[in-house]
Amino acid sequence: MHHWEVVMATAEGMVFDIQRYALHDGAGIRTLVFLKGCPLRCAWCHNPEGQQKRPQVLRYENGTEKIAGRRMRVDEVLREVEKDTIFYDESGGGVTFSGGDPLVQPGFLLELLKACKGHDLRTAVETSGYARWEDVAPVAPYVDLWLYDLKLMDPERHRRWTGVSNRRILSNLEQLAASGAHVIVRIPLVPGVNDDRQNLEATGRFVASLGSVGEVHLLPYHRAGMSKYERLGVDYTLGDTPEPAAEAMERLAAILQEWGVRTKIGG
Ligand code: SF4
Repeated sequence: MHHWEVVMATAEGMVFDIQRYALHDGAGIRTLVFLKGCPLRCAWCHNPEGQQKRPQVLRYENGTEKIAGRRMRVDEVLREVEKDTIFYDESGGGVTFSGGDPLVQPGFLLELLKACKGHDLRTAVETSGYARWEDVAPVAPYVDLWLYDLKLMDPERHRRWTGVSNRRILSNLEQLAASGAHVIVRIPLVPGVNDDRQNLEATGRFVASLGSVGEVHLLPYHRAGMSKYERLGVDYTLGDTPEPAAEAMERLAAILQEWGVRTKIGG
């Protein structure tokens, strides 16, 4: 091993989970590495324990506690990830960096990606896209697939539901697409938030203009992460928002397809 590789391997960052045998966040069988910190505060977030950069405490009903977030070195993460190399090879899978938003720790993400590529692993990055282009550009050559969230096209509505403007998100996506990156756009569809025709049409128009974006995945809202809010002592503001019906999802997918955008329901 060269000296510079040793230096990379000791780079550290904050990780809050590693899940093996995942099937929905990129092709094949994958290991998901969840990096801590996110600049957004989406009302429907499934991983609220990943939002803050520092560790967060989850308090369970039975009185036990779990800390979400611990510092890990690149080589420690790689050791976990490499346990399933045989499954990646057989299934066309690999590693997906998720979060939070992995671009909140751009230096750590870059070293992780380089280390993966040094071990011939396929890589995906799931992101909100809310980052400085100066942080996106250096990691892009090491990313085989971007899973890029697009929540709302209207800047004001985007700010209202996520806490930030979508200006950077849209411009980073345009630049990635222009560079020929392989991107799947993912839209979490939340009833009453972004499931209206106006938003879907604006999304279809935008994605159609991007040329190289492969497809859009519509992810129906579900309440799987709800109990975590209670454990964190944080309010869940969506209340009893219903999960969207299958027919509604089909109808929304059809709006995107009117723009010639390849659309799939689910991840
Ligand atoms: S971008 Fe993703 S991780 Fe961040 S707050 Fe929104 S849903 Fe949660």
